[in-house]
Amino acid sequence: MPSLRITKHGEPALKKVSAAVDYDAIRRELPRLLKDMWATMYAVKGVGLAAPQVGLNIRLAVVDVRPESKPQRLVLINPEILAREGTMFEEEGCLSVPGVYAKVKRYARVRIRALDARGRPYEMDGEGLLARAFQHEVDHLDGRLFIDHLTFVDKLKVMSLIKDLRKNWT
Ligand code: ZN
Repeated sequence: MPSLRITKHGEPALKKVSAAVDYDAIRRELPRLLKDMWATMYAVKGVGLAAPQVGLNIRLAVVDVRPESKPQRLVLINPEILAREGTMFEEEGCLSVPGVYAKVKRYARVRIRALDARGRPYEMDGEGLLARAFQHEVDHLDGRLFIDHLTFVDKLKVMSLIKDLRKNWT
């Protein structure tokens, strides 16, 4: 299965607000696209991948927070966060900012609504890593990266690190 190229920090696709998916318009290409997105995500041991990270500005993401054990493959089409509760402050990373990790404040529990791979609406509660993945991926669809949540001072530190790391990004 081909791996898709993952867009990196600084590329325009990561900064755009992605367009809502018209399910019927993409249903034919969707299985192929999802297959490639899963392969791309697993190849680099990610737990989530949003369409803008493969250069497509549409509101679609895939999440599997337990690739090591029994997979829980979630397809999120036009996801919305319906409810948010509590806070957590954990280290986070992103396939589009390779080599950079920072603690980010997130809601501890969220409820999302989305369409699945077959276009059927569903709602799901997530907590811990899953809650973080939901928030991280919805952020991607709104043109935000996890480092955008850092304080000004922390972001300055991260930006100088990125400057060095960028030489090795492909
Ligand atoms: Zn990311």
